[in-house]
Amino acid sequence: MSPSDDLAHQATAAPEHTDAFWMPFTANRQFKKTPRLLASAEGMYYRSTDGREILDGTGGLWCCNAGHARPRIVKAIQEQAVTLDFAPTFQMGHPLPFVLAERLKAIAPEGLDHVFFTNSGSESVDTALKIALAYHRARGEGQRTRLIGREKGYHGVGFGGIAVGGMVNNRKFFGPMLPGVDHLRHTLDIARNGFNRGLPKHGIELAEDLERLVQLHDASTIAAVIVEPISGSAGVVLPPEGYLKRLREICDKHGILLIFDEVITGFGRVGKAFAAQRFGVTPDLITTAKGLTNGAVPMGAVFASGRIHDAFMHGPEGAIELFHGYTYSGHPLACAAALATLDTYQEENLFEKAIELGGYWEDAIHALKGLPNVIDIRNFGLIGAVELAAREGAPGSRGYDAFQRAFHEQNLMVRCTGDVLALSPPLILQKEHIDRIFDRLAATIRATA
Ligand code: PMP
Repeated sequence: MSPSDDLAHQATAAPEHTDAFWMPFTANRQFKKTPRLLASAEGMYYRSTDGREILDGTGGLWCCNAGHARPRIVKAIQEQAVTLDFAPTFQMGHPLPFVLAERLKAIAPEGLDHVFFTNSGSESVDTALKIALAYHRARGEGQRTRLIGREKGYHGVGFGGIAVGGMVNNRKFFGPMLPGVDHLRHTLDIARNGFNRGLPKHGIELAEDLERLVQLHDASTIAAVIVEPISGSAGVVLPPEGYLKRLREICDKHGILLIFDEVITGFGRVGKAFAAQRFGVTPDLITTAKGLTNGAVPMGAVFASGRIHDAFMHGPEGAIELFHGYTYSGHPLACAAALATLDTYQEENLFEKAIELGGYWEDAIHALKGLPNVIDIRNFGLIGAVELAAREGAPGSRGYDAFQRAFHEQNLMVRCTGDVLALSPPLILQKEHIDRIFDRLAATIRATA
């Protein structure tokens, strides 16, 4: 098969073997039994290789916030590829990352004025952790080496990210982890907050868990706390009302940096550019990726406060710099995609969509209450989760079963983690898409029962 004339064919043909591609977060042997292959996408829909239209309830993997194949983004990538395909950004550069960083600074929470480019969420997390450690070192507090994450936290798959992360399966084969890491308790409490709409009412006291760790380890050893304002991968765990503010206060009291991992909440998912703004809590560092380029080209970014940046810039000349970077930091194609993505978000006011449609979304998802095995429903912005009861004494997870049925029988893309079905649709959706998503999800849940 000649390389290019058959690209289209290769993209739609069902493969005979799937083992050569070692699939991420997937057991190849399981996938072979029920392959789910996507050939193309536009707007709110994917098209599968067997010709079905699949409604995208998850923005790909929480990343296609402006929907698929948006012409402005496609054009920007195409034009950039023929103009400047690659340029180093170590000790030299090209204009685009400078332009992009200014655009990002303009939408970031106040004071987060500096942007370090990466290629993924995992790289953003490891970058932020390294910046936090080096920052304390640069200020003469090099004994602050301890990092604090949270149970159920997901911070990507780098060694830093899995160490501060709290997803057992992602950690257990890869020990020993980074030393000196501890974890806050998670905030999921179905007994007290089950079927609550929006932020949980109960659980602010869980923020005091940070004081417990401060007492245990001594504040002078702690560099940073990292949390997702809303965690997606753990099955949509929401922060109780007031919880994030309290974490901020405790961090301030003890000189600890606060990092928000906004890889999924960034770029409009909860009604503002960042969840930090929606919750009125400003961290010292924010990690992002995904929606930054609408998923069209891999890219991540870490936002840092002026205070952090200055610690590296105002020391003795040459004494301290951040020895860190990626070959593709500020890649021209990624920058072009990100700039066109920001234009699209702004022109179409997409960041406001999660507030405009939030009430309709909330009513629609909570209408699933009472369906068989539904034990909790959680929502915030344009994020939703339906938790199903675990199957007792029978093999296989009910969530995975539902996820497969949604795809094959209802032509609906959802995510599943364990028995939680998670939703994060493109922000271009209309009310009729919301109706369609939840009609199909209801049918899926009934069929899974
Ligand atoms: N942090 C969070 C909060 C995430 O949700 C994810 C991905 N789902 C990551 C980090 C890792 O991002 P990536 O897969 O791009 O490395």
